[in-house]
Amino acid sequence: MSSIKQNIEQVISQITSATEKCGRTADSVQLLAVSKTKPIAAIDDAIAAGQYAFGENYVQEGIEKVQHFTTHAQADKLSWHFIGPIQSNKTRQIAEHFDWVHSVDRAKIARRLSEQRPADMPPLNILLQVNTSGEASKSGIAFDDLSALADEIAAMPNLVLRGLMSIPQKADDYDNQYASFSALADAQNALRDKHPQLDTLSMGMSGDMEAAIAAGSTIVRIGTAIFGARNYK
Ligand SMILES: *Cc1c(COP(=O)(O)O)cnc(C)c1O
Repeated sequence: MSSIKQNIEQVISQITSATEKCGRTADSVQLLAVSKTKPIAAIDDAIAAGQYAFGENYVQEGIEKVQHFTTHAQADKLSWHFIGPIQSNKTRQIAEHFDWVHSVDRAKIARRLSEQRPADMPPLNILLQVNTSGEASKSGIAFDDLSALADEIAAMPNLVLRGLMSIPQKADDYDNQYASFSALADAQNALRDKHPQLDTLSMGMSGDMEAAIAAGSTIVRIGTAIFGARNYK
């Protein structure tokens, strides 16, 4: 068995036990395998192990992988999630290749993604990245500005607003992790009055998955625990 397959099984069993602890079903949380910087062969191993959702942070690298896997036997099952910072000159490539974008935090980027989404593709699934750590983080929209941005994006024709995402400041204790994730879940619940279709919370990574799942996460994003440490060039 490949180590990637073993790692995926290990992560899935962690997800399962986290859901059991809080009375949720295992299939209510999706594992997003974050494959940034990792080669095609690693993704091949993950697909062979039954993992079909992948997260990428860098546009050029991500679209090379998306294009490579369009001819894979399991291509129809694969979903590609863009989770990295977005520059406005890269929106077209994202709109043309990805199924989900987790890191939208301003209207200008969303408007370009909507305008540039090809007509023959389904609407692009959008999550708004929220800054749950205040001053400590530069990316993500503030809670106070969330409602206006959600209204604006929900009206864009080629996007579907699905939910929220956060990358909280590292906290080692469960209570702080849980408080941060609960704040995001509360914000989503408040938005549901006007946007009842919201059904996705992308929150939780290796070190804080249990708290995220207890707070209502529906997508956990895991890289290193599946593919091993990254070497940045
Ligand atoms: C890299 C990355 C991850 C995965 O991080 P690991 O520590 O490798 O599990 C998750 N979410 C985002 C937004 C990332 O950029």
